[in-house]
Amino acid sequence: MEQPAYQVALKEAAQILGRSDVELDRLMTPDRIIQADIAIQLDSGETAIFSALRVQHNAARGPYKGGIRFHPQVDVEEVKTLSSLMTWKCAVANIPFGGGKGGVKVDPKKLSPLELERLARGYVQAFVKHIGPNQDVPAPDVNTNEQTMAWMMDEYSRIKGHQMHDFVTGKPVALFGSKGREMATSLGGKFILDLMIDHLQITKRPIQVAIQGLGNVGGGLAKLLSLDPRYKLVAVSDSQGGSYCPTGLEVSEVLAHKQTNGSLAGFPYSHDITNAELLELDVDVLVPAALEEQITSSNAEHIKAKLILELANNPISASGDAILNSRGISVVPDILANAGGVTVSYFEWVQNREGWYWEEGEVNGRLQKLMLEAGQQIIKIADEKKVSLRVAAFLLSLERVDRAMRLRGKLVGRN
Ligand code: GLU
Repeated sequence: MEQPAYQVALKEAAQILGRSDVELDRLMTPDRIIQADIAIQLDSGETAIFSALRVQHNAARGPYKGGIRFHPQVDVEEVKTLSSLMTWKCAVANIPFGGGKGGVKVDPKKLSPLELERLARGYVQAFVKHIGPNQDVPAPDVNTNEQTMAWMMDEYSRIKGHQMHDFVTGKPVALFGSKGREMATSLGGKFILDLMIDHLQITKRPIQVAIQGLGNVGGGLAKLLSLDPRYKLVAVSDSQGGSYCPTGLEVSEVLAHKQTNGSLAGFPYSHDITNAELLELDVDVLVPAALEEQITSSNAEHIKAKLILELANNPISASGDAILNSRGISVVPDILANAGGVTVSYFEWVQNREGWYWEEGEVNGRLQKLMLEAGQQIIKIADEKKVSLRVAAFLLSLERVDRAMRLRGKLVGRN
């Protein structure tokens, strides 16, 4: 794995703020790494064991917060990086949470729904001492969804002996998840995309967009773009490959094809392309919305987009980021671009604790306010300090986390 871009940006931000290496180390090191083996019974009657993790990075500003992913590539380094990103993301959005992340090393496509349910419940059983609404609040991530959260909430409530809606976020609305949560990451990203298009004074219409990844987040953005005549979606992909049509893809047909066939392969009125080809298309905006490390030193020279919106977590390596910066390509970092999901997770937690529920318009309005505040502050810092948007985002979030640490007496010394 190449060095993640956030580590270099965080270091640059710490230097600008005059923080020592020891202080930076303190802010980068997770509070706790918890590992467990989860044994579940398969439908065949055999037992399977899956290794699972929860990394709790920093709780200076509030309970640890972050998703749980089910993926064959889950490992400690990956989850450590992702938990750290959650700390900085929650601070960028200015919500009262720290950062955490969980994962299970598993290929969920190989499990039946009943086996997935046992795994979700097994995860809660394994980590129950360390997670909870005031301690560490899980949410969906790659390959987990509102059904996974419903099982987890039920299991936690069963163990505790009373109902605890506020244990996880990203639950189904029918189980008192928040209205607007499912589209929140995509909608937050769209608010930031619009802001950046105005800021960069991109006047070309329509703006051509390519999206890598057609999961909840990438698919959600595709839908939002299809409702806005300023944009034209020209390419999309899933884990097996993608479709490209320079004159524009019909989003509803793409999503229906994927739904019916399980993949994009063979989608008519377009060329089949690989994921690697999608990244290098001549488009205005590129949106990585899949997994980590998609743009690295090996392809950053070939990227043609003017603006990259990181809806995935950690999609660009440090060396890839340096090349993009030197080529003048604007990159909106993940901790801003995809902060909409955790922001509405916060709204869900608030609603669960109050037992009082908001209309979707209210959720989206509050989301827009927080996203634009964060985006405008980051653009201002980047302009004033002459740094990339990523470094500016870390200047904003590091300052907030650092202050909370000092006020709690967890970092001592200069102010
Ligand atoms: N998994 C999402 C993220 O990476 C959402 C986390 C949350 O809502 O806690 O931002």
